[in-house]
Amino acid sequence: MKMINKYSFLEFEKCPVRGWFAHNSFQKSELSIAEKFRIRQGIEIGKRARNLFPGGILVEAMEPNEAVRDTSLLLNNQSVETIFEPAFFDDNFIARADMVRKAQNGLEVYEVKSSLSTTSRIRDYIKDLAYTVMVIEDSGYRVSDAKLILVSKDYRKGDEDSKLFDTVDVFNKVCEQKSDLYLKKTTAPGVINSSKRPDGKLSYTCRNCEYLSSCFNLKREFSIFELPRFGKKKTELHLNEGIFYIKDVSIDDLKNDPKLLRVYRAITDGKTIVDGRDLLCEKLTSLQYPIGYLDFETVSTAIPLYNNIAPYERIPYQYSLHVLKKPGWILEHKEFLFSNPSSDETYELAKQLVKDAKECKTLMAHHASTEKSIILWLADRFSNPELSNQLKAMSDLLVDSQSLIENHVYHPEFHGSFSIKKVLPALVKELSYEGMHIHNGDDAQYIFANMALDNYPPGEMAEIRKDMLEYCKLDTLAMVEIHKKLIELAWN
Ligand code: SF4
Repeated sequence: MKMINKYSFLEFEKCPVRGWFAHNSFQKSELSIAEKFRIRQGIEIGKRARNLFPGGILVEAMEPNEAVRDTSLLLNNQSVETIFEPAFFDDNFIARADMVRKAQNGLEVYEVKSSLSTTSRIRDYIKDLAYTVMVIEDSGYRVSDAKLILVSKDYRKGDEDSKLFDTVDVFNKVCEQKSDLYLKKTTAPGVINSSKRPDGKLSYTCRNCEYLSSCFNLKREFSIFELPRFGKKKTELHLNEGIFYIKDVSIDDLKNDPKLLRVYRAITDGKTIVDGRDLLCEKLTSLQYPIGYLDFETVSTAIPLYNNIAPYERIPYQYSLHVLKKPGWILEHKEFLFSNPSSDETYELAKQLVKDAKECKTLMAHHASTEKSIILWLADRFSNPELSNQLKAMSDLLVDSQSLIENHVYHPEFHGSFSIKKVLPALVKELSYEGMHIHNGDDAQYIFANMALDNYPPGEMAEIRKDMLEYCKLDTLAMVEIHKKLIELAWN
């Protein structure tokens, strides 16, 4: 029988059906560029963490029985203190720790994660580690300590590897977590190893689950999972009453929230709903020309790409700016992309941006708080007071197209999201991201990171740069068209 691994068990812990799918090898779709990059980054972080334990020995075998056998030999070898990737199993379960170190009272168990030590995901990581500790103990070893090795925000490129990590002792929390997991460990094998898929219970957990249609033959489209910020309690109350689609929700349950009511009306009427037209007209009329439509692309990596940048610090490497001088929709386009991704060109980007946006009296961005934080980050970064003041002044010109839509407009095809990728195809049918080589900002940032790390053959670079410029340009063109559509909706 196939051993249950950590991934399947932790999926089971979220939902028994997810555990069953994970164990029975239901393949996910092909990994995206971003997912592949994150996996490679995780492997690199794992390798660097081994440098914290000089003299450690790696268990290289991938086959579980071989890996467990090699681990046992190393544990019995007096001259070995630290083992990397050791494997353990008990009856039905297998676990591979990132590293174990022999201590006087037992084994110290370490889990390496490529997140910052300030991460909000620490509870999930403690659960990961609790699973590993549970299997190690059940396979006959005593565990005396359990620690997470996480990325330190104080690391800078070029520092030695010891500065890349913060080690956090979570042994007490792991022990607390273990007792919960033990209860599930007794029931998991019967469910996960069954040839019949277990029955699921429709709940809040299902809202973003890729198995929704396999489990219940239901589609997420137009369901209560699309109601923005509807919350777990209200969602489960409705599901328990057998209400899944928005059209079946009682209007009384939504009447206190104009945004939810707008979603309900758009879906039941099957058309765009615009509320507060007068206010929307007022907001749109107050925008001063020339208007610049601005979008940055940023990259953030665990191991910084440039000097004086912290892990996961967000670096703007590209922008697109469409400028509309006066009503009439005749546009100018300006753009910037690091010419040499291996070196930090944020100073050049900042100077060029100030020049390109010089005439603009309004800057429109979709989810403008992001653009504002990037401009202010640039303003703080260089010892050039004039540039800094220009950037700060620029940040005051920002207007958020997402808020304009969120507070006044809903189209059924938004499907509960106000992101530009959902809003554009719903409101502006003629413009689309279909057929583009780069589909989202997440892929774009890791394509850039791969460029900065010289991971592409030189012959491919020109084509990749062209794709990146096209992708970012479409984001700002989308804003122009959305602005045009908002005017049409407000006045008609
Ligand atoms: S749809 Fe719900 S019940 Fe089915 S696997 Fe997902 S979370 Fe579990």
